[in-house]
Amino acid sequence: MELPVQLFTFVSMPYLLKYLDIRAHCIQCGKELPPTGRPDRKFCSKDCKNKFHNCQRHHYLLREELEGAVLRALDINHSILSRLYRMGVKSVELSTLSQLGYDPRFVTSYYCLGRRRYFTLFDLQFEMTPSQIKRLTSIAPEEFVRRK
Ligand SMILES: [Zn+2]
Repeated sequence: MELPVQLFTFVSMPYLLKYLDIRAHCIQCGKELPPTGRPDRKFCSKDCKNKFHNCQRHHYLLREELEGAVLRALDINHSILSRLYRMGVKSVELSTLSQLGYDPRFVTSYYCLGRRRYFTLFDLQFEMTPSQIKRLTSIAPEEFVRRK
């Protein structure tokens, strides 16, 4: 069956599904939806509708929790490194940082120059080797660093 190309730009999805004789399916369980009922129907039952929305809500809460955890880890890392930077520390062993609560998985950007791996954590920049952080510096304007 050949459909005129323009038809695709105007028809609604339920109409197109009906025209092509493709049965719509429940977006929760995948069961084929009966041809009766609202044409834009998405669920086979109230149970599936509730399950879907509970799952969405759960997913949203997990995402919020995860974002919170990432922001807290970044904040902890930044406060550790900025304290060290203000003390004049330029290099520090990862084992020492780990004892202070630093988690090397959380940085705000990463790039490579040759074999060297550079990281930034907001306004701080450093090179990281498998065992230490080196060349810790601030990329923020000097006035900003002094104010903190
Ligand atoms: Zn269902």
